[in-house]
Amino acid sequence: MIELFEKYPLIKDLNTFKRYSDLEAGMLALRDRLHVEEVARSKMNRPIYAVNAGAAESAHKILLTAANHGREDAPPLALLSIARQLAQPNRDLERLMKSVSFILLPCLDPDGYDLRGVKCVDPIGNTEIREEYSESSWEDVNAVWCRADEFLPPETRALKKYLLELHVSLALDLHETLFYRPSLRFQLPPQWRFYPNSFEVTVIEFIPESQRDLGESVGASIVENLKRSYYVPRKVSNLGRFLRKIFVPLPQTITKGEGREISGPLLTEFRKGRMVLSDWLTLSTGIPSFTFESFLSPLDYRVGAHIAGVEGAVLAFAGLMPQAVSARQVKRIPFPKKKKFHIESAKEAMQLLGEECRMVVHRKDGRLTRERLIAWNSARRLEFRKRWLRSISVWELYS
Ligand SMILES: [Zn+2]
Repeated sequence: MIELFEKYPLIKDLNTFKRYSDLEAGMLALRDRLHVEEVARSKMNRPIYAVNAGAAESAHKILLTAANHGREDAPPLALLSIARQLAQPNRDLERLMKSVSFILLPCLDPDGYDLRGVKCVDPIGNTEIREEYSESSWEDVNAVWCRADEFLPPETRALKKYLLELHVSLALDLHETLFYRPSLRFQLPPQWRFYPNSFEVTVIEFIPESQRDLGESVGASIVENLKRSYYVPRKVSNLGRFLRKIFVPLPQTITKGEGREISGPLLTEFRKGRMVLSDWLTLSTGIPSFTFESFLSPLDYRVGAHIAGVEGAVLAFAGLMPQAVSARQVKRIPFPKKKKFHIESAKEAMQLLGEECRMVVHRKDGRLTRERLIAWNSARRLEFRKRWLRSISVWELYS
């Protein structure tokens, strides 16, 4: 199983990011390894950063955004943790970063992060950080992305412009469902009330018809990776592990667009068709987008859930990418058993590419892998593969 990210943060590390300046210092510390830039400024003059990692020119870009609602603290901490791991990737992640690029905006609302509130917007784009979501004519900032620019606060306008110019292929916006009601179980619709499992994560997907394969496999992979990585964390006691296996928390999924579907009881406001950042991205750029909500657990679990969800999305996305190199078989050379593969291949390479061509020999470690020789000149690149049944096949490689 490929593990791209470490998903078990320590609570004592997470607790060091009390203020936005702590988060900012964490992002700026990555500047010597990753590209960190200021892309907008908040009303109270706090910078909003984007962190870029991976193949800069790649056409395969993943956008990760968090703290659209500033008071939701697990998502920015999860993105900071991911950014740090992108700066010091493990071997699998490093390989993946050669073809995929990541754009992370760990905190879209730094003012709300510091004031522990939600940015609300009036009909002409004035903003205030408030304790609660929309009252009267003030709307929650995540509900205004589809508005015309002249009715938006300046930082949202700047962010929209920046996000549109990125041309990403996939987007995840990370959130939390923070209200805590001890009696929640008894406020659930009747069919869920006596269900033993709890819903700790909601995945809201919006998949345009043209991207159905990508969108559906990313959605399924997010849920799979959550079940695999997050729901039975390593660090709990055996009893805790056992209890969590019995009362398996279920990821709730909400599918937007046509065929709208909700698999659980939370976030019923989505039944009303509220349009948020992810919806705006799908509607304006045609990519599949996901909103991810964690719910009720302790902070380290929630941060871990976000990292696991992102990892699931990245794994599915990378698995569906077209191969960087395609190949066409040129010819097949039979050769007698006693002759050496490399000598025969080299002779043939010089015939096909000229005597000046360059060659390298690739032999992989695992048993039963076939021998390889790659030869190239300025115009063509050929790969010689040893076949069973005493023959060599010659492939032309295109990148
Ligand atoms: Zn939120």
